[in-house]
Amino acid sequence: MIVYGWNAKNIKQAPLENYECPNCQQKQSVIAIFVKYVHIFWIPVFPYKKTTVIVCTNCKHETEENNIELGTKGAIQQLKAAVPIPKYLFSGLALILLAIAFFTYQGIQNGEKEKAYLNDPKTGDIYFLKNEKEAGPYKYYLMKVRKVEGDSLWVSYSSFSYNGMITKLDPKDGFYDMMYSLHKDGLQEISKSGELQKVMREYSASDGFDQEVEFHESDSTAN
Ligand SMILES: [Zn+2]
Repeated sequence: MIVYGWNAKNIKQAPLENYECPNCQQKQSVIAIFVKYVHIFWIPVFPYKKTTVIVCTNCKHETEENNIELGTKGAIQQLKAAVPIPKYLFSGLALILLAIAFFTYQGIQNGEKEKAYLNDPKTGDIYFLKNEKEAGPYKYYLMKVRKVEGDSLWVSYSSFSYNGMITKLDPKDGFYDMMYSLHKDGLQEISKSGELQKVMREYSASDGFDQEVEFHESDSTAN
């Protein structure tokens, strides 16, 4: 659940000279300027409005901005404009922009890395593929480069298909011990087809991506 809403922060309080309280006719009022801001989880995201209230220190009578008499209003508007909005009221916005910048940067970095992997495949590279033509939910499968011989690659496929991107293999899953040959250019075609989701080069053996599964003729009926 995301908690959000608005709060008000008092950014200025000053005595207001010669202002007669409409309630008790004393001249002991203060002017308070508030800034209203939107918060998410109590972190100020952005301020959106300054408001002013006049408070009589004698009788506590409050005069809202809209009810302040015209003569006083001009001076108040000037004061209001002069009071700066504290920068920290933008902290949430800054955090959001930073996060966007970070993920955009990371996305670009990953994209560049994967392009480099595609252009120069190495033994052990794993391709995450998605077959949109597959009718069921198990559209995702993996292809692993087992050997590189000049412009030819020897690849093998994962023994299972998955219903999403996986981060590790179950102990029983793995790559078939049966290999197919693929020209390097085939990788570019796979990439262009939109089937390629991700290329992985550095991974930990404990995630199971080195597991091998014996290929049985009966398994091929799945294709
Ligand atoms: Zn008063």
